[in-house]
Amino acid sequence: MFKKILIANRGEIALRIQRACRELGIATVAVHSTADTDAMHVRLADESVCIGPPLARDSYLNMPAIISAALITGAEAIHPGYGFLSENAAFAEMVEAHNLVFIGPTAAHIRMMGDKITAKTTMMELGVPLVPGSPGEIATLEEAHAIAEKIKFPVLIKAAAGGGGRGMKVAYSADELAAAFHEARAEAGAAFGNNAVYMEKYLDKPRHIELQILADNHGAVVHIGERDCSLQRRHQKVLEEAGSPAITTAQRDELGATVTRALKKIGYRNAGTLEFLYQDEQFSFIEMNTRLQVEHPVSEMISGLDLVHEQIRIAAGEPLGYGQKDIHLAGHAIECRITAEDPETFAPSPGTVVMYHPPGGLGVRVDSALYAGYRVPPHYDSLIAKLISYGRTRDEAIARMRRALREFVITGIKTTIPLHEKILQAPEFIDGDYTIHWLERFVAGQ
Ligand code: ADP
Repeated sequence: MFKKILIANRGEIALRIQRACRELGIATVAVHSTADTDAMHVRLADESVCIGPPLARDSYLNMPAIISAALITGAEAIHPGYGFLSENAAFAEMVEAHNLVFIGPTAAHIRMMGDKITAKTTMMELGVPLVPGSPGEIATLEEAHAIAEKIKFPVLIKAAAGGGGRGMKVAYSADELAAAFHEARAEAGAAFGNNAVYMEKYLDKPRHIELQILADNHGAVVHIGERDCSLQRRHQKVLEEAGSPAITTAQRDELGATVTRALKKIGYRNAGTLEFLYQDEQFSFIEMNTRLQVEHPVSEMISGLDLVHEQIRIAAGEPLGYGQKDIHLAGHAIECRITAEDPETFAPSPGTVVMYHPPGGLGVRVDSALYAGYRVPPHYDSLIAKLISYGRTRDEAIARMRRALREFVITGIKTTIPLHEKILQAPEFIDGDYTIHWLERFVAGQ
């Protein structure tokens, strides 16, 4: 087992990884920008290294600075968290070239899944069902028209290098196709430095259902059940639950078997998530994330597994030590992503936290790096806390989440707690009867 790990991230996820390291008896090295000198992940780490100025590209994305920090502190492995360098194949290679362990998949698998076109082709060859669409990149508008005629409007133009919902444009008819195609390409080029786009049928009422998997370095692959992440705004997740209120155990088992078989074939290792759209009883693969996800706690709550422990054990070369039949999912978990934003306009609201009182009690978990007096910097993602509730049933998890949201006190900045309180009262949410388009309409009408 490793003696020291460097955590190449900030905020709640840096703290989350630090907690797992502590429990495993591993010392931690925090890295931080000059904007994060007083951050909780720095205060609680065993050691810390400043890696640059506030802008992410100069600090949390500064690969040589992070590698140097690992080398001078004698860390043996690097955990990238999510976002930042977590899906950067060149970084994974650089880590290994310096005889450090990258806590994640191989650079080859990161690269394969990072290009969504390659990811889809690979999954198709492995027998995983896909959303109907273009077989590969769409290079010209003529090609776009030809494929759209075939799969029928509405269609979605998506960036091959996409992420965070960027570079995605819908066309409802042939008249709208040229604009969607050119806008998606321009946005993709600006955001990812790669303007390759592809096309999918735009599904009108899907749910977003994803499967968490774990794989060791010795060929064992298991899944930890699904998460329903259909509550989204601008293609970004707002609230997630495990399991999905929309699918049966038999459906989960069947999808799980297909996915674990596929990943075993390609020799995938460490944690990963396969994302699907689910509509008319059909699952269609959209992408794979080769890292820990923001919403991983809901899977932990229903499985009892600590996914970061598992990632670290796997990276150290340990076998999983259990099979699919040993994984027992029980109860229901919900996660609310709380951001420093106005709950109605979604305008960012960085600033100083005056009072901070997190909720507690049975079945309540808070993953956050906030404290009273902390100044939320304007430079990074607006996620400030994840509130997770667990219950033996979905109704119990909902009741706990409602009372936990009422207990949660964060003053000095605006947060999305009031939005979550409204969602938790909405009949459609309570009935589990929602698609990926529901929240957008709910927010517009509130
Ligand atoms: P990103 O990597 O940018 O997050 P994804 O491919 O994961 O992009 O898609 C993000 C979200 O966009 C999905 O969760 C879903 O809500 C929506 N979406 C993606 N593809 C489709 C599609 N073919 N039809 C309808 N909605 C889609």
